[in-house]
Amino acid sequence: MPETKICSKCKQPKPLYDFYKLPQSKDGYSYTCYDCRHKRYLENKDKIRAYQKTRMGKACRTANNNNQRAKFLGIPDRITSRDWLRILEKANGQCYHCKRIAGEDNLTLDHLYPLFKGGTNTPDNIVASCAPCNHSKGAKLPHNWEPSH
Ligand SMILES: [Zn+2]
Ligand SMILES: [Zn+2]
Repeated sequence: MPETKICSKCKQPKPLYDFYKLPQSKDGYSYTCYDCRHKRYLENKDKIRAYQKTRMGKACRTANNNNQRAKFLGIPDRITSRDWLRILEKANGQCYHCKRIAGEDNLTLDHLYPLFKGGTNTPDNIVASCAPCNHSKGAKLPHNWEPSH
């Protein structure tokens, strides 16, 4: 009979190897069993996945990706997900460049003055652009480029 411990979550006796070593607890083992921890992990994963599908979750990802790119280029400015949501709200589904109604989900974050041409990563240099415009504009400066569609 292996040593058991009562899990503080499911209140079931579980073999000691279902707990991990936790020096700061009284008996030196974690409070919850493996099954409970795994269940919680899966629930959290679902929660995170559901959040990522929300408007705020998507904005968070867009802002984070953008900030990472800026950091990679050595630009210290950061935008928040709220900054990006504000830009999207102003755009109201319309591409800044070609004025086409692309729908909010199809608008991408675009730096008016490209980051690696000295543009800042601040809301006043960021517009919502449809993917074709963003792609065709690339690293060109706004006055060197016209939407082609
Ligand atoms: Zn348990
Ligand atoms: Zn466009």
